[in-house]
Amino acid sequence: MSGRAKISLYNGIVVEYGESTYALDPKGPSKSHYTFVSHAHMDHVQNPDPNSRVLASRETKMLAKARGFDLGRTTESADGVKLLDSGHILGARAISIGDEVFYTGDAAGRDRAFMGKCRTRKARVLITETTFGKSNYVFPPIEQVEKEVNSKIGMMFDKGRPVVLMGYALGKSQVLSHLFSSWSPLYFHEQVAKMNDVYVQCGVSLKSGKKVSADLSDLPRGPWVMVSPMMSSRNKLAQRLKKEYRAAFIAFSGWAADPGYAYSLGADFAFAVSDHCDYKELTTLVHDVSPEVVYTTHGFTQEFAADLRSQGFDAKPLAGYQTFLSEY
Ligand SMILES: [Zn+2]
Repeated sequence: MSGRAKISLYNGIVVEYGESTYALDPKGPSKSHYTFVSHAHMDHVQNPDPNSRVLASRETKMLAKARGFDLGRTTESADGVKLLDSGHILGARAISIGDEVFYTGDAAGRDRAFMGKCRTRKARVLITETTFGKSNYVFPPIEQVEKEVNSKIGMMFDKGRPVVLMGYALGKSQVLSHLFSSWSPLYFHEQVAKMNDVYVQCGVSLKSGKKVSADLSDLPRGPWVMVSPMMSSRNKLAQRLKKEYRAAFIAFSGWAADPGYAYSLGADFAFAVSDHCDYKELTTLVHDVSPEVVYTTHGFTQEFAADLRSQGFDAKPLAGYQTFLSEY
């Protein structure tokens, strides 16, 4: 493979390089030679075109299946193509095409429990997510959060109150299940338990807790810790847990770097723990790849591209480009 890659936007991002075309996280079935599914979050998974070769990890295939999607026959390697752990959720991958294009998918910037950070490779063109690509989104060290959360749980336990730890059901909840597994009794919301099971099948060591059904049957009053999906205070289950159980709610999200986040969600506390890079980590990632051209996707695409241009990179958001992009 040689020459320059051509990047276009059609049903997602399509890279044309050498003799092959690669659809990167397409929104629907793609006729490209290859369909790359970076990870199993809902906005990235679909049932692919049967004639397109699917590039995805084994874990992504398993997690997609648990969520009702069949990725068909998948492969983790192809000629000149490398999949690298992006650290975002279990099985999440970035893709390197030749030494030409590096696409991060969703990428983490640090170690969290059993998860690592996005591995990178040098490339001439970088396509990166910029969910938290604004300078106020800098997250505290995970050890500090762990300490503060443990002390909050301890305080609640002293008052006989249970604690609900909230994060996305796939990815964040498993990190939380691991970080706070020393508390007992430990409960998992059924959606979290379902994803935990797939993680365990994939070899991640997660302590087994008790599964909580939506009607809260068998849930005792006393202090306990529950890992649950994000719920606003308007959620019926959250209301019952608050009123009948006096539960305290702790939310975990990168958006918790916004001062009003806990209040807007109706949570008692919120901590900025993310499966994405924070602003500083995104900047480091770009320098590690050391590209000539950077395309930004998701979140603060304009802002981050502008910051990169001020550092001398040729950077632009991908979203504004409707069809054919350039010879990059
Ligand atoms: Zn994701």
